[in-house]
Amino acid sequence: MLKVSHLSKSYGDLKAVDDLSFEVQDGEIYGLLGVNGAGKTTTFRMIVGLLQPDCGEVLLNDKKIDYSMASQIGFLTEERSLFTKMTVEEQVYYFARLKGMKKKEISIELDQWLTRLEIQEYKNKRIKELSKGNQQKIQFICALIHHPKLLLLDEPFTGLDPFNVTVLMSILKELAREGTMIIFSSHRMEHVEVFCDRLLILVEGKNILSGTLKSIKEDFQKKKIYLSGKVSFKQLKSIEGVESIEKKGNEYVLEVASSKVVKEVFHIVKQSEVLDKFMVEDASLNDIFVSKVGELKHE
Ligand code: ATP
Repeated sequence: MLKVSHLSKSYGDLKAVDDLSFEVQDGEIYGLLGVNGAGKTTTFRMIVGLLQPDCGEVLLNDKKIDYSMASQIGFLTEERSLFTKMTVEEQVYYFARLKGMKKKEISIELDQWLTRLEIQEYKNKRIKELSKGNQQKIQFICALIHHPKLLLLDEPFTGLDPFNVTVLMSILKELAREGTMIIFSSHRMEHVEVFCDRLLILVEGKNILSGTLKSIKEDFQKKKIYLSGKVSFKQLKSIEGVESIEKKGNEYVLEVASSKVVKEVFHIVKQSEVLDKFMVEDASLNDIFVSKVGELKHE
C-alpha cells in the first residue's frame, strides 16, 4: 500500500501542494486530476523522492521511500525524458539497468513489449527518429519493464491516438490485476471515467474531492434534462432549482440542482400539449470537475 500523509510543498510564496493525504491499495488504479498547475507533477516528484517535501511523508508498504526502493517504482514523467541520440534498445537497457535488471531479462522483456506495442521495427532506431506517440510508448516501456510495485504515470496518454490509448489502458488494467498500484494524472475526464477505481481532484494543491467515481457521482446532485415539445421557456425558468436553460435546435437542455427538481420539471412539462422528449442524465465527471473547480475559483 502507498500512504501519502500531509504532504506539502511551496516554491517561494506559492503553495504548490497543500496538506495532501491519500492512500492507494495494491492493485488499485488511482486518478490524480487537476487543472494546469494544480500540483500533480509536484506530488509525483515528492512520491518518488525527486523533490523533498516541506512536510509530510510517503510510505510504500510502511517504509519511507528512498533510493534503495528504486526497483519497486516506475515513473513516466510528463515531459519527455529520453536520450534522443540513443537507440530504442540502448535507451531501455539504460533505464532497466538502473532499476537493477539483468541483461538477459531486459532482452526478453524488451522484445515482448515492443511486440505488444507493435513497434518491433524501431528497436535499433534512434529515439529522435520516432514519432511522438512511439516515443511515448518507449517511455511507457522504460517505466514498467522492471515490474514495479508502484507505477506513477504523469499524463501517460499524451500524444497517443485513441487506438493506442485503449492498448495502454488494457495493459495497465492487466498490471493492476497482478497487484501493481497505479497512480496516473490526467486532464482528460473521459480517460479517468472509464479507467480508475478511485480519484482525487486537486485544486491549488489541495484535495477538494476524492473517492470512488460512484460515490462522487452520487454525492453530486445536479442533473441534466433534455426535452423537446411545446413547452414554455418562461415557465421552466421560473422553477426553483433550474440553474440554466440552453436551447439547442428544437431541444432544451436544463441544468437542475437535484432529482427533486427533475420531478418538478416533469410535473409541469407533462401537462404540455406536445412532449416529444424528456431525458435525464447524471452529471459526467467532466461536469463535476468543471462545477467544483468553477465554484472554488468564484469563492
Ligand atoms: P500541469 O497539469 O500543467 O502539468 P501540475 O498539476 O502538474 O500542472 P505542477 O507542475 O506540480 O502542476 O505545478 C504546481 C505549481 O507549482 C504551479 O503553479 C507551478 O507553476 C509551480 N511550480 C512547479 N515547479 C516549480 C518550480 N520548480 N519552481 C517554481 N514554481 C514551480
